[in-house]
Amino acid sequence: MSDRRVLLASPRGFCAGVERAVQTVEKALDLYGPPVYVRHQIVHNKHVVEALEQRGAVFVEEVDEVPSGAVVIYSAHGIAPEVRSAAATRDLHPIDATCPLVTKVHREAERFAREDYDILLIGHAGHEEVVGTLGHAPERIHLVDGPEDVADVKVRDPARVAWLSQTTLSVDETAATAQQLRERFPLLQDPPSEDICYATQNRQTAVRRVAGECDLLLVVGSANSSNSLRLVEVALDAGARAAHLVDDPGGIDEGWFDGVRTVGLTSGASAPEELVAQVLDYLAERGYGDVSQVEAAEEHTVFALPHELGRPRPGGAAPVLADPAPADSVPDEGQPTDFVPVEPALTEPTTGVSAPADAVPADAVRTDAVRTSTDRTDAVPAETVRTEPIATNSAPADPRPPGNDTP
Ligand code: SF4
Repeated sequence: MSDRRVLLASPRGFCAGVERAVQTVEKALDLYGPPVYVRHQIVHNKHVVEALEQRGAVFVEEVDEVPSGAVVIYSAHGIAPEVRSAAATRDLHPIDATCPLVTKVHREAERFAREDYDILLIGHAGHEEVVGTLGHAPERIHLVDGPEDVADVKVRDPARVAWLSQTTLSVDETAATAQQLRERFPLLQDPPSEDICYATQNRQTAVRRVAGECDLLLVVGSANSSNSLRLVEVALDAGARAAHLVDDPGGIDEGWFDGVRTVGLTSGASAPEELVAQVLDYLAERGYGDVSQVEAAEEHTVFALPHELGRPRPGGAAPVLADPAPADSVPDEGQPTDFVPVEPALTEPTTGVSAPADAVPADAVRTDAVRTSTDRTDAVPAETVRTEPIATNSAPADPRPPGNDTP
């Protein structure tokens, strides 16, 4: 009997912010018809982008590439206010698919800036999310791109300094950088709540659970996906003998399997589950058909779609709406239905305006959303971790039919 096996990390794949962003584009295509313009990749996954392009999405770098009167969607990574201003000077219909957890960081930056703090943003230079966050307090934010930047940070008043972070960083590395900042600035203010999002944390925790047993760990995700890259680093740090990022089975090198008995498998927050299923099939064909799922947390977070989806575009007909949802079933845009803000000022929707219930298509919101304590790995006791055999060559968890499998 073969001693080859696969440890499948869970949670993995699509997070609530990515689900929301992809559904936003799909819904906009349904409501307004193609083309729908999207500023930057809606999420960092080439398969998702290619599938949406086939349906009529057009990806652009800046809003000045979008024709007057067209629909333009902002990606999950968020934008600087100047992008919103640029769109406002043109006759566009903007729809903001910024993840609400990124918006939360924007609100934190604005508040610290209003209170005259210097803000130290831990993040990677040039990443779209970082560019967007920097734009929310450009006079006050200093980028700290890892521990090596700490010594060079210059602030106006060492007693009035706060730190924030990109949502998709390594939890451990960010904690180490924050600790170094605290040693330089003992009065450093922490974010009001954790900036590294629940999905990033859960996927890293799941990888840590399996990495020590893995001769090889594969992360399904694209090379420009920050959270996917971090999963490779976390895997190596946690004891995997080798770890590689692959977009799909075509990116796997047969030579990686020499002497390998245990393969770990996970996927980044922007990678569709269908690709994981394809990698499982690839592994099964090579004798790795014994698959066990190792679960580190349960996730139930769902964000409602952006309220702008229900509005007519400039000079255009009103979108075709399904039966409106009853008023009491429509959550505020971007909020899980039972989301309890830690600090209301930091959790407002980007525009601060919720859609009227009758402007939101009934199927544009999901009212079964809950955010429970089990969304966070630190809320899951060790004994709840399960190792379950699962079948290979099975249907992917994503129930969407082929052709509608863009996430
Ligand atoms: S990784 Fe986190 S911050 Fe980014 S889209 Fe997903 S939930 Fe939002």
